Amino acid sequence: MRIFCIANQKGGVGKTTTAVNLAAGLALVGRRVLLVDLDPQGNATMGSGIDKRALDPSVYDVLLESSSVGEALRMSPAGRYQVLGANRELAGAEVELVTLERREKRLRAALKTVEADFDFVLIDCPPSLSMLTLNGLCAAHGVIVPMQCEYFALEGLSDLVNTIKQVHANLNADLEIIGLLRVMFDPRITLQQQVSDQLKKHFGDKVFNTVIPRNVRLAEAPSYGQPGVSFDPASKGAQAFVEFARELAARLG
Ligand code: ADP
Ligand code: MG
Repeated sequence: MRIFCIANQKGGVGKTTTAVNLAAGLALVGRRVLLVDLDPQGNATMGSGIDKRALDPSVYDVLLESSSVGEALRMSPAGRYQVLGANRELAGAEVELVTLERREKRLRAALKTVEADFDFVLIDCPPSLSMLTLNGLCAAHGVIVPMQCEYFALEGLSDLVNTIKQVHANLNADLEIIGLLRVMFDPRITLQQQVSDQLKKHFGDKVFNTVIPRNVRLAEAPSYGQPGVSFDPASKGAQAFVEFARELAARLG
């Protein structure tokens, strides 16, 4: 079982879209996938077709150890993957965890109990470097960083890279950056091409070959409770995510 965080401390960069569609893409190519929603906004939960308001137990109960992962799992009807969902309640965990023991390793411990059940676990992180994100980073083997090719993209990356280095040094020696994924890409915009070239120069083969284009079907799919990959499989966005799933699976052997 390989565990990956989808992380970037900026909001609106495409983390949830990546998490949901990569989960659906990996399921489509025959892998057993668990998607963990670690964002109190619950967008990955809703985008997988699961009502966050009706979630009980949720990932919150798992982190506070009042429920097991097995009890909290739900199947995404369209995506064909399992979901450990989140809602507003999870925001409270941030505060409640602070006084508890092993507070940053709760998710790691919980996922050990389902080790035999999944090939991939994808963790959709909130837009912060908080206790929740720290739980994700401590549980993971690697980080997938979705990013838009904008002017300040590289600068914004340094905080995340430093956090990953610190977690690697102090809490989780397994942790590494698996790769940077260019998302919402528009090749007609010269600046995006330039930033993309810069990224490749700077990070080399840590930049995934697959590029996710800006595609309106990916943005529409969540309101139907579906990953874009199943909502409109023929769309450019869906095809790119399936290709990305293949690239990732191949890279890991
Ligand atoms: P994050 O989880 O980082 O906050 P989201 O995945 O929620 O980011 O994406 C932010 C917004 O951009 C959402 O409205 C989403 O539908 C839209 N979006 C994400 N990726 C794409 C894409 N490739 N093409 C078009 N819209 C996208
Ligand atoms: Mg999100």
